Amino acid sequence: MSNCSTCPSKNNCSTKKAGGDSCSKIIPKYGNVKNIIGVISGKGGVGKSTVTGIMAVELRKAGYKVGVLDADITGPSMPRFFGINEKRAPMLPVGNNDEVKFIPVETPLGIKVISINLLTEQEEQPVIWRGPVITGVLNQMYSDTEWGDLDYLLIDMPPGTGDVALTVMQSFPISDMIVVSTPQDMVSMIVKKVVIMTEKLGVNVKGVVENMSYIICESCGEKTRVFSKKSAEEQALYLGIPLLAEMPINLDLIENLEKGKAEEYLNHSQQYEKLIKTII
Ligand code: ADP
Repeated sequence: MSNCSTCPSKNNCSTKKAGGDSCSKIIPKYGNVKNIIGVISGKGGVGKSTVTGIMAVELRKAGYKVGVLDADITGPSMPRFFGINEKRAPMLPVGNNDEVKFIPVETPLGIKVISINLLTEQEEQPVIWRGPVITGVLNQMYSDTEWGDLDYLLIDMPPGTGDVALTVMQSFPISDMIVVSTPQDMVSMIVKKVVIMTEKLGVNVKGVVENMSYIICESCGEKTRVFSKKSAEEQALYLGIPLLAEMPINLDLIENLEKGKAEEYLNHSQQYEKLIKTII
């Protein structure tokens, strides 16, 4: 349990702000994690994991020590993003009892990743677990991983306002949350629920990344909004949070992801500058 001096959210502590004096936040057992940033969405498939991966690479290329916890237990995709899905994360015994610790898989750039897909025998193996079991396993993946010294631990959150997302927000000392959405009114409405829940739980919402905002014409370079005529600013205004980035539908990114070359492809693009600056 928590020790305030090593707690990643000591400067933004919701318990203290609310005048509370007891803390139930869980601190990772192995290592020193300075900041925990959550990335959340309303629904699956909007690009939450892609944004988590992009943020991790951009932060790493800016010189920070970065880890990624894939908390989307039923839809894990971080190992594929980094092209490390063929690898397995070793489990080492600790002491004389049944306790183990997980050794995260490192990407070529040195980002430490833990995901249920790196712990099961095969990546296609589904987890057929109910909420409380998923929550227990996730707690273990977070607290019993040998993270070492990290400037940033990024958490690819389970989508939506369900049981697991709720527990993560209540038990992990997340300092800031980044919200990912697509420009569709129905998606925004569900994202707004996530924003309200996050704020109610005392977690600071930094802003929204609008993904799949537009396409760029290959012949003339013109930007065309694909899902909505409303601007990204209008969508952010509806959510009541700052707009941090607008990402186009990007086939080059996807091609590089499929080849496991995201780290080589991503290189300080201006479109992510505001997003990264709000975190560091
Ligand atoms: P989520 O984590 O929200 O479920 P993912 O990040 O896994 O979503 O993205 C869902 C799918 O959409 C993936 O196949 C991903 O490669 C693709 N995708 C995400 N963002 C983009 C984008 N900007 N351009 C093209 N494809 C994208």
